[in-house]
Amino acid sequence: AAKKTNLLPQHLYPRTKSNAPSGKTGTTQASPLALHGGTPVRTKDWLKWPVWDPGAEEPILEVLRSGDWFRLRGTRVDEFEKAYGELIGARRVLATASGTTALETALHVMEVDAGDEVIVSPYTFIATYNVVFNQKALPVFADTDQSTFTIDPEKIEEKISDRTRAILPVHIFGLPAHMDPIMAIARKHKLAVVEDACQAWLALYGDKKIGTIGDLGCFSFQNSKNIPAGEGGAVTGNDDRLMDLCHSYHNCGRPYGKGASEYAGYPLLGGNKRMMEFQAVILFSQMKRARADFDLRLENALYLDSKLKEIPGIIPYELTKSGSKSAYHIYPLRYKKEHFDDLPREKFLSALQAEGIPCSSGYEAQYKDGVMEEVLSSRGFKRLFPQQRLKRYREEPVSYTHLT
Ligand SMILES: *Cc1c(COP(=O)(O)O)cnc(C)c1O
Repeated sequence: AAKKTNLLPQHLYPRTKSNAPSGKTGTTQASPLALHGGTPVRTKDWLKWPVWDPGAEEPILEVLRSGDWFRLRGTRVDEFEKAYGELIGARRVLATASGTTALETALHVMEVDAGDEVIVSPYTFIATYNVVFNQKALPVFADTDQSTFTIDPEKIEEKISDRTRAILPVHIFGLPAHMDPIMAIARKHKLAVVEDACQAWLALYGDKKIGTIGDLGCFSFQNSKNIPAGEGGAVTGNDDRLMDLCHSYHNCGRPYGKGASEYAGYPLLGGNKRMMEFQAVILFSQMKRARADFDLRLENALYLDSKLKEIPGIIPYELTKSGSKSAYHIYPLRYKKEHFDDLPREKFLSALQAEGIPCSSGYEAQYKDGVMEEVLSSRGFKRLFPQQRLKRYREEPVSYTHLT
């Protein structure tokens, strides 16, 4: 038991002259763990999130005083769309109320319909499954690659059925999914690809921008995200026809694009998924710092990489392609208890937390909490899918690599 007090590796202590990396590891005496009454590694507060520039205040007041609070009477959302396209290298951007509504819009436009199936990474936030269920389609999980945390392209083809309509890879934590093989499989089987880039602003897959590789990409600007505006989202793409359809769908089905007139009525199916002018001015201000923030996260993450990889039993993420860059919404690693006298993962996490290092065990199989049962036993799903299919779906093992 005494041995366990020194479990926290030297490298996790803040850099001071006395413990600065010397090239050799594990030779200096560590102080007691905070869990056991020692001084935490980190005693200063972390940055309070979100951060913003005071320059956002005046434009917010301008919008307020103008009374033009929604996009059909203002110009701020249009301006944001243009700037975001320039920032992430997409030809077209549609701003939406949230990341969830961005995904809903993209799936609708890619004709994901009732009774379809969508192949999705199981390791993600619940919103990724919800949007598929809300289209009255089944999210079919293809397991993640242990080292990259993203969908394993080798696991996709075996999940394709005659109902499969789309692949929905998730760039989880900002890590780019392996898009080249995913796109090749999609083209071969004539499937749509919608990227869930809700955690991957400015991330790169090789030299390609995340959110511009699939047919459509979806981003979130919710309060906790790297570019926060409380709520907000965007669909990105390079195809005018698809992006015009997205615009129509998010705006009650009003026609949009070449030859469309504002007074032509509501010829298409649609809803209201519009971003407010207030969100757009906050985002416009946030975007000014987005590039520098991305670079800083990257620099810090590379430093962490270099130190963590020296510790046996701590295995940082791997990138799917050389030259790729994560957005580091979250910094993921795997913990191998064999290297820590079989100390359970939960204990390791508590020890880190006690040291003042915020960390968690990651996503769990959230659809198991009841969502899946609610959906599968609904009248609609029972009518849309053969009983055998739903039975097989329910019984599919969920021992997915990253889900506990
Ligand atoms: C945040 C998030 C969403 C949903 O975005 P909202 O803006 O909260 O609706 C979807 N997918 C992933 C992976 C996310 O992290």
